[in-house]
Amino acid sequence: LPSKLPNVGTTIFTVMSRLAQETGAINLSQGFPGFDCSPELVALVETYLRRGANQYAPMAGVPVLRDALAHKTLATYGVNYDSETEITVTSGATEALYAAVAAVVRPGDEVLVFEPAYDSYVPAIELNGGIPVFVTLTPPDFRIDWEEVRSKVTNKTRLIMVNTPHNPTGRVWTTDDLNQLAGLVQEKPIWVVSDEVYEHILFDGRTHHSLMTHPVLRERTFVCGSFGKTFHITGWKIGYCLAPAGLTTEFRKVHQFLTFSTVTPMQYALADYLGDPERYESLPAFYERKRNLFLDSISGSRFRFKPAEGSFFQTVSYAEITDEPDYDLAVRLTKEIGIASIPVSVFYQQRNDYQLLRFCFAKDDEMLMRAGERLSRL
Ligand code: PMP
Ligand code: GLN
Repeated sequence: LPSKLPNVGTTIFTVMSRLAQETGAINLSQGFPGFDCSPELVALVETYLRRGANQYAPMAGVPVLRDALAHKTLATYGVNYDSETEITVTSGATEALYAAVAAVVRPGDEVLVFEPAYDSYVPAIELNGGIPVFVTLTPPDFRIDWEEVRSKVTNKTRLIMVNTPHNPTGRVWTTDDLNQLAGLVQEKPIWVVSDEVYEHILFDGRTHHSLMTHPVLRERTFVCGSFGKTFHITGWKIGYCLAPAGLTTEFRKVHQFLTFSTVTPMQYALADYLGDPERYESLPAFYERKRNLFLDSISGSRFRFKPAEGSFFQTVSYAEITDEPDYDLAVRLTKEIGIASIPVSVFYQQRNDYQLLRFCFAKDDEMLMRAGERLSRL
């Protein structure tokens, strides 16, 4: 069968997690919390399971969860979204990202992608006949050269993919980035997908500049989020998309036939759980401590890094340690010293020799310290 996705294999997250399991390595590869979610959240699900919330949810999500999201969005970013026409609950951010791309990309359309890029973007674009056009960000800063971005916009550009805080670099967008993007798309038929799954995980006093906070971008962006990252429930696969009514109409046409709706009792539980802002406002301090713990534990090593600005990933350079390709090194470290990581080259389409590994620090303190000790011996 001629493949529609000839370049796609099993995702690196599955490959490395499996290798970690087989070898008994500390798994700092795939991005998921190594600790459980709140028992209160589990108890809420139990309550709703027993109350019979066990049939299909409404296609767009249960109304109380959409209302809770509207409320949280207004309280956090000062931006209004209508829960009836502008908010859709999805089966993880992955579904939201796919549905947004599918809603606007036609065969032959160009889609700007900043790389390194999360691995679901390009397949979503290609399955819909889009042509990814890459803007390559390079270490150590991974700053965006807006001149270069402008030079890559053509009359075929239909969509721009954004991710802030960024996986895998931990970089976060500034208000200048927002202004530059707004200037670029204003009055053009170009839409934006903004992957903001790490919206509540920012460090050193930084604020998340959601694209929705810029009036121009508010009107042309699909803002995609995930409860998986915010409440330590990656296994629930519940996310959402906030977008202006016109875009949401098209988004829901895809969502309706991709999954139709998302798991019901969890949606009710999340609607209640969202009521206390402390539950997401505590995340920066919670993860900043873990980031620092991990960075302290490798501070005497030959790894070089800029502390992540957000997300729960730390990307480090190993250039002073070895010349090996990053994939080979990630596999070797898993087998030889029992630490699994992600080779950053997998987030680039073009082969590259940046010599970077990504470590997930959403893990127990003790595990992070043990990992740091082993990495410091290299
Ligand atoms: N976008 C980014 C940048 C991610 O890191 C992830 C996964 N961790 C996702 C999207 C997917 O989120 P979900 O698990 O809610 O589908
Ligand atoms: N987003 C997670 C990561 O970057 C992995 C999600 C997945 O396994 N598909 O590690």
